[in-house]
Amino acid sequence: MPLKASSQAAPPPRTDSEFTLIERYFESHITQRRDVLLGIGDDCALLQAPENTSLAATMDTLVAGVHFLADADPEGIGHKALAVNLSDLAAMGAQPAWASLALTLPAADERWLAAFCRGFFALAEDYQVALVGGDMTHGPLCISVQAQGFVPATLALRRTGAQFGDRILVTGTPGDAGLALAPRETRRNLTAEHIAYLQARLDKPLPRIQQGLDLRGLATAAIDISDGLAQDLGHILERSGVGATLYVDRLPLSPAMAACPEQATAIALTGGDDYELCFTVPPRHLGSVQSLAAAWDCACTEIGVIDASPGLRCLREDGTVYPLSPNGYDHFA
Ligand code: ADP
Ligand code: MG
Repeated sequence: MPLKASSQAAPPPRTDSEFTLIERYFESHITQRRDVLLGIGDDCALLQAPENTSLAATMDTLVAGVHFLADADPEGIGHKALAVNLSDLAAMGAQPAWASLALTLPAADERWLAAFCRGFFALAEDYQVALVGGDMTHGPLCISVQAQGFVPATLALRRTGAQFGDRILVTGTPGDAGLALAPRETRRNLTAEHIAYLQARLDKPLPRIQQGLDLRGLATAAIDISDGLAQDLGHILERSGVGATLYVDRLPLSPAMAACPEQATAIALTGGDDYELCFTVPPRHLGSVQSLAAAWDCACTEIGVIDASPGLRCLREDGTVYPLSPNGYDHFA
């Protein structure tokens, strides 16, 4: 029960409808897992992690007006709220298991809730993630999801392990979500098919779970790309105390990106919201990674190498320096 601030209009009191909504939308159609001893409906969930594993725990918030427009398709918001968390688990090499959902809603709009749940639960079912709890409050639209998965601590893909000589690889075609948001002038050559593809890349990112699991014991460091390839790779470099050279002509481009050749490299390096994985692999493991990647549903491309001297250098094929413009997204910049 919230405090009543005397100077403000009191928020609506907790009514039965809050519990009806939880029951109707969140309690009924959840993925069943045997490690959920007690799910939604009590003060806490009771969860049983397997022995000999660590719990990988993450949380991400989507705020209306910051991460999506308030009138955006709620099904896409439901998908993305879970997807960005599963992407963090992927980047850690963790197997997803459980999620909690804190929803702040401006109104009890059941059409919105039903669509949100379609997006959220379709993805949850794809990865056998059980929703085990959450919270519902009244206020400006905001969605926080917490997710947990399993990974033996010794096999977790941290940001700290990149070493001199490791190769830098990336899944998929980074920059597509950024191109979806680029100015009309940048996108003038795109077909309707390109635009639909880019919008799906922005709204329905696929967490690279299988890729993260396959990279256990092979990658020395990994991160998921939420703020732009150059910036997120920069986190690996700082944490690992190394530098890197990227060969910008090797950046994998989707057909839509390739249709915007003037801006393609800049957007592939700085566009955020793709949720691809960027990771480092020592040369002796490259063959294993490439054979596992043959079965992936996305590209896996070697784009650079870890250097001993700090900083990120971008080179073109002819050896000239590609000037890296200011980085990806920063909420407080
Ligand atoms: P409490 O007051 O003890 O925090 P609540 O009344 O807020 O519990 O919630 C009742 C039950 O419903 C709890 O098990 C809680 O985890 C679950 N719950 C509440 N909101 C959500 C939601 N948006 N999604 C999933 N579970 C929820
Ligand atoms: Mg309680």
